[in-house]
Amino acid sequence: MPVDTSPLIDSYGRIHTNLRISVTDRCNIRCFYCMPEEGVKFVPRDEILSFEEIERFARIAVSLGIDKLRVTGGEPLVRRDLPVLIRRLAAIPGIHDLALTTNGVMLAELAEPLYQAGLRRLNVHLDTLDRQRFRQISRRDDLEKVLEGIAVAKRLGFGPIKLNAVAVKNLVEPDIVPLARFGREHGFEVRFIEFMPLDAQQLWDRGKVLLAGDIIDLLSREIAPLIPIPDTDPRAPALEYRFADGVGQVGFIASVSRPFCLNCNRLRLTADGKLRNCLFAIEEDDVKRMLRGGAPDAEIAALIRRNVAGKWEGHEINTSRFVAPPRPMYSIGG
Ligand code: SAM
Ligand code: SF4
Repeated sequence: MPVDTSPLIDSYGRIHTNLRISVTDRCNIRCFYCMPEEGVKFVPRDEILSFEEIERFARIAVSLGIDKLRVTGGEPLVRRDLPVLIRRLAAIPGIHDLALTTNGVMLAELAEPLYQAGLRRLNVHLDTLDRQRFRQISRRDDLEKVLEGIAVAKRLGFGPIKLNAVAVKNLVEPDIVPLARFGREHGFEVRFIEFMPLDAQQLWDRGKVLLAGDIIDLLSREIAPLIPIPDTDPRAPALEYRFADGVGQVGFIASVSRPFCLNCNRLRLTADGKLRNCLFAIEEDDVKRMLRGGAPDAEIAALIRRNVAGKWEGHEINTSRFVAPPRPMYSIGG
């Protein structure tokens, strides 16, 4: 049978080139907008994909046109020997971009082996520079460790380093300006992510979202006017702005106020081996069963094509039809 080398395209013409791989659903902190404080039921270890299975899946996906990988979780740094996986993923021919999203708590100890394994791009989750609010949000007292991890990563030469901050109304307003100033001072782009309905305790409602527009107004008033940067990559989810005084930039993942579904090029592999074509997908395909059941590469490739072909138009957060997915953020892989 001839190999199908056509791009991974869905019925809305979106070409998929970007795969996010979750390597664990476990985490060492408990952000309230993601995990419950106690009693989290994690997937048993033998149900989590092995490095061999992840690498095999990634290679098949790359043969279909995927050229960007992001490793995420749960907290990816709690997965034992993560640098071994990073080295294997970085060595796949055809990967042009490999990145990691982390909460940074273990970054100080792991940044060097990760760098040596070939990782350069990092997104570090940092909502606040205030110790008390960090504790309130994450139910852990680890701000110092995260800041140390960011400093070590910078010293080692990681770049770009982006900082992810979840924008929750009536909570993080006092953090917006200090975070943006911190980013300007150190050369990090801060990305404000509108709070999405993916929390395990179903606390989300629209009134709790601090909207990108409000953050733009605040930063423009308090620091310097923000000027939109024309889209260099229309498929990137973030809206990018630069400060008019020439120092630094910020980004916004405005999933609620300005959904970017029409440009989405992402697929997700969960730690327990399910393939999802949307963060908010209700249905998923069981890749692990195929990987463990001896399916040949061609069958797995066909499954990926079917999964992409069946992608819906968008997530509908802003309609009455919206249904939150049964899996919260940490179990999908943000
Ligand atoms: N543990 C790592 C971390 O926190 O960066 C990686 C996984 S985490 C699920 C990925 C991203 O999702 C983080 O940047 C976090 O800020 C974001 N996130 C988690 N829950 C969210 C929610 N309900 N709405 C918006 N963003 C969320
Ligand atoms: Fe853990 Fe990241 Fe979820 Fe926070 S957002 S609980 S760090 S997985």
